[in-house]
Amino acid sequence: MKFFLDFLHQKVPRDRGEIPAYYSRALTAGEILQAVYFLVCFFLYPLINSRWEWIPMIFIVATGLCLWAVKHANVRINLILYAVICCGWVFWNVQHFGWSSGVQHFLTLMVVLVFFNVYDKPLTKCFWLILILAFRILLFSISQRVPAMYKMDTEANTIYQTVNTVAFFLMLACMCVIFSTSIQDTERQLRLKNQTLYKEAGTDPLTGLPNRRAMIETIEKYYKENGDKPFSVAIADIDFFKKVNDTYGHNCGDYTLVKLTELFVEHAMGRYTVCRWGGEEFCFFIPETNLDDAGTMMNDLCFAVEKMPLEYEDHQLSITITIGVEEYDFASPLEDLMDSADEKLYMGKKAGRNRVVV
Ligand code: GH3
Ligand code: MG
Ligand code: MG
Repeated sequence: MKFFLDFLHQKVPRDRGEIPAYYSRALTAGEILQAVYFLVCFFLYPLINSRWEWIPMIFIVATGLCLWAVKHANVRINLILYAVICCGWVFWNVQHFGWSSGVQHFLTLMVVLVFFNVYDKPLTKCFWLILILAFRILLFSISQRVPAMYKMDTEANTIYQTVNTVAFFLMLACMCVIFSTSIQDTERQLRLKNQTLYKEAGTDPLTGLPNRRAMIETIEKYYKENGDKPFSVAIADIDFFKKVNDTYGHNCGDYTLVKLTELFVEHAMGRYTVCRWGGEEFCFFIPETNLDDAGTMMNDLCFAVEKMPLEYEDHQLSITITIGVEEYDFASPLEDLMDSADEKLYMGKKAGRNRVVV
């Protein structure tokens, strides 16, 4: 009993109110097809000389109830209603028309529905699988011992079995299409979301530049792929930036960072990658460039910053940066390379700022 109650209340991922959208879609589609199938049986029974056309009518009403429940009841209750209808129909058919009527296939649909409905509970899945299998074996053994109540002629039996088989395949295909497309869709959305999150995690929100993490990844990737090629790094720090904040306000500081970023990106011209290393520090990764060339490039940049016209709320600002440059020596770890560039930056600050130390 507890097992059954747990099954009823097990949390399932829900994306529309109380009912998981893709699951209820598959169940609804399956039940609509089932109602159509019962309707076909209703018209078919007089043709195959069966007197029980009111039976499919009862099942149509029951399926209608199920469809109503998809919208209004717990999805598990709906599954149980569906299971009762399915088992009832199979049982009644095997009893009246015998095993050869081919209705037993509908039990397979229940296995599919249960397996997609139960999450992370292999034991519950096994339980339902064994239950459905046992029901099917029991039905078969009964059908072997107790003769069918109504003996259809060969032609009627062929027609009825064909209708049942086609209905089963249609329902199975319909449910599988809905389940598989929904899962693939969810997978695609997750992949896209992951890509966005990954990009966001490596981007500085103020300047839109890659952040320190992304820069380290870029350098490591380059090093792995081009182990024998030289490369240099540079770390730049804005001179007396605290003064800018203190004098003109934090917004002005932010504005300066954005404007400097624009200048760096414009100056790069594909020769180097720039990132926001932290606070008012920027890091430059200059691939396939030795120390001398990197130094020249950074001197050029330092000069461009000094000459950059920067106006904020009628104030004319003058910004300079100090840069430390280092070339990779193919021996030390990458952290040492960064530390060395940082030390040179510190030396530049001590020597009076607005300069490049190579
Ligand atoms: P130095 O020439 O020695 O580098 O002097 P400095 O004033 O630039 O150095 P200091 O480290 O004392 O100050 C750095 C300042 O940068 C302090 C901090 O408020 C400011 N800062 C760091 N990140 C941001 C930011 O995102 N926006 C703004 N507006 N200011 C920032
Ligand atoms: Mg600093
Ligand atoms: Mg500074």
